[in-house]
Amino acid sequence: MAGLATPGAVILIYHRVAEIPRDPQLLCVRRRHFGEQLEVLREHYHPMSLLELVGAVRDRKLPKRAVVVTFDDGYADNLVDARPLLADHGVCATVFVVGGDGGPAREFWWDELERLLLETETLPRALRMTVGADAWHWQLGESAWYRPEQSERDRGWNVQQPDNPGPRQEMYRALHERLRTLPLPQRRKVMDSLQAWSGAERVVRPTHRSLATDEIRELADGGLVEIGAHTLTHPVLATLPTDAQQLEIERNKAHLEQILDRPVRSFSYPYGTRSDYSVETVKLVRRGGFACACANFAGVVRSDADSFELPRVLVRDWDGDEFARRLRQAWGNG
Ligand SMILES: [Zn+2]
Repeated sequence: MAGLATPGAVILIYHRVAEIPRDPQLLCVRRRHFGEQLEVLREHYHPMSLLELVGAVRDRKLPKRAVVVTFDDGYADNLVDARPLLADHGVCATVFVVGGDGGPAREFWWDELERLLLETETLPRALRMTVGADAWHWQLGESAWYRPEQSERDRGWNVQQPDNPGPRQEMYRALHERLRTLPLPQRRKVMDSLQAWSGAERVVRPTHRSLATDEIRELADGGLVEIGAHTLTHPVLATLPTDAQQLEIERNKAHLEQILDRPVRSFSYPYGTRSDYSVETVKLVRRGGFACACANFAGVVRSDADSFELPRVLVRDWDGDEFARRLRQAWGNG
């Protein structure tokens, strides 16, 4: 395993440590599995903080088998469920938090979409709606009523499966794909019409909420967890003009710094694949007072890494053995 024998680091991306009924985007790792994964890190790897890693790259003192834990988005379970396990295993982490003044008044749009389309038992039989420049028309037919046993059967469905068990999943998949790149005002409009169309109550589920202001502070207390920036509204930065990108990055950073009363040094690009940010974005982050920025494409951080486009490896809900296997694989590929 040449990959493990030379200095290098794998940065892991998590989103949530949670057990929820549906996880179509595969964002959750169950608590038990997260504990097992941390045990693997403790026993076989060299966990370090993101800023330590950036310093080690700069000083050409990168250790072997280094691993960094990061979380994107800033779900409340990062404090409630992930942090105690991190503390138990003595593993530090960086949590990249979305948001600005005004606080998290609603769920992330991808969670709203899941709630409205996959969790609402009865929906109207048809939907006509303008999405961006297009007129969309959907027929739910018999699936307008989600029979509980069918709903139960579909719980394990996720977007990585090639098939859709019914029109609800088809609609979810198509809308998710389209909404991801839609500018915020248009996306809000679509989400608001969907909300009204569904007849569902407008709620923020306790299981899907983001960190509140005092919880961000609490999460950072003690220094085990570093808070990083992840933009104001989680846009695909590459789709925005430069000034709008700058505002997304700066306002989120200033907001978090005001909460924490200390500089925010790390950033992660929303969605984070190479097409989700641009050369311009990297320049803005570089000039914006950050020490590093994380992307979302797989790879091993070597001593020649660019600290403003750090590769990361996505973690799924794997048990310890599977996690250990995947981690060795990640090294093999890097
Ligand atoms: Zn994100």
